[in-house]
Amino acid sequence: MHIDIITCLPKLLESPFGDSILLRAQTKGLVEVNVHDLRGYSKDKHHKVDDYAFGGGAGMVLMMQPVVDCINALKEQREYDEIIYMSPDGEQFSQAIANELSLKGNIMILCGHYKGVDERIREHYITREISIGDYVLSGGELAAAVVSDAVIRLLPGVLGDETSALTDSFQDGLVAPPVYTRPANFEGIEVPDILLSGHEKKIEEWRFEQAVERTKKRRPDLFNSSK
Ligand code: SAH
Repeated sequence: MHIDIITCLPKLLESPFGDSILLRAQTKGLVEVNVHDLRGYSKDKHHKVDDYAFGGGAGMVLMMQPVVDCINALKEQREYDEIIYMSPDGEQFSQAIANELSLKGNIMILCGHYKGVDERIREHYITREISIGDYVLSGGELAAAVVSDAVIRLLPGVLGDETSALTDSFQDGLVAPPVYTRPANFEGIEVPDILLSGHEKKIEEWRFEQAVERTKKRRPDLFNSSK
């Protein structure tokens, strides 16, 4: 899988992809993530990428020229399954969307900044708009990192234990059951006996019951959703 991220602040994306699981996924060749600096595509002599909004008002808007040139340059290299714009008014990101995107080959993600991007980019070049929640960030970079992380960890071979992504919250419409590790008794606080019993089947049943109980208590809405 290729993920190409377009941003005017590439530094913001260095650390999310430069450590731990996301770094290992790239080193193993399971995903190639490339961050493209919008300023490098600007034809302005000062590498300007934004301008004032027509009609006035506070805040700058990312301009057509550098964004469109960057998108077109990338499209010449490969075909994209989705060209995503991170936007607070997009469809709300979910595990279901992460699953769907993890099956794609090439994804481009455009990060907005300031007031956003010229609307004509959204209308003519973007295939999908995704929000990570009902709040406004100062730029799309962190949102793009959130989406990429959720997608990359689903790619086969990225997580050490192949089954572990499947037992995470939301995969089966439930939140995850509680987990414990050694010691079994920490200053008198014990872990549930069943987990030490060695009965694989019973442990599995217990985990399922716990997941159902937790979902009822914390996220009853998940029982009513179709996903
Ligand atoms: N004026 C816009 C917000 C711009 S915020 C509005 O009111 O809708 C600047 C950029 O941050 C956006 O272009 C978008 O790329 C990103 N962004 C902000 N909040 C986001 C969210 N919740 N999900 C995804 N991207 C977001």
